[in-house]
Amino acid sequence: MDNFKNEIFENLIGEVSKCCLGEDQCGSCEKDKCLIGYCNKCLVTALKQQDWFISGGMDKLPSYDTRFYDDEVVVDAIGYLLNQCRNCSLYHDEECIINIIRSALEIILLGEVQEYRGSVLVYLNDIKKVNEKMANRILEAFYRRKSEWMPELKR
Ligand code: SF4
Repeated sequence: MDNFKNEIFENLIGEVSKCCLGEDQCGSCEKDKCLIGYCNKCLVTALKQQDWFISGGMDKLPSYDTRFYDDEVVVDAIGYLLNQCRNCSLYHDEECIINIIRSALEIILLGEVQEYRGSVLVYLNDIKKVNEKMANRILEAFYRRKSEWMPELKR
């Protein structure tokens, strides 16, 4: 097992779990029918398989999930997640776990999956054209979360 990889997956599970509404609100966890439950399931699979890619992971996203999540928490999670993207550019792969989780969070924040062209900066620019207000919140969360391990970036 790769400790570095495990730490990344475990931290991602922790961030995504913060978005969970809990069984108080949902009754019982609907797992695959819930965007957050689905993300956690994909992350656990990725962790077990020690693989960044989930075959068919985008096809099964429960985009019909209409729960009211706390968008502050979700924006914070996407800010964290964008810092985990390796900016693969032309080698971007839709089945990458980072892409799958980001797509689920986009459904919550923007109503649908957005195009991702393998670069955080390109993405931040692209979503400005879709929803400038939300794009600014995501940008702020991206830099705020980055500054947690790069304090010199604190504004
Ligand atoms: S660029 Fe795409 S494939 Fe690379 S880490 Fe980011 S989301 Fe994953």
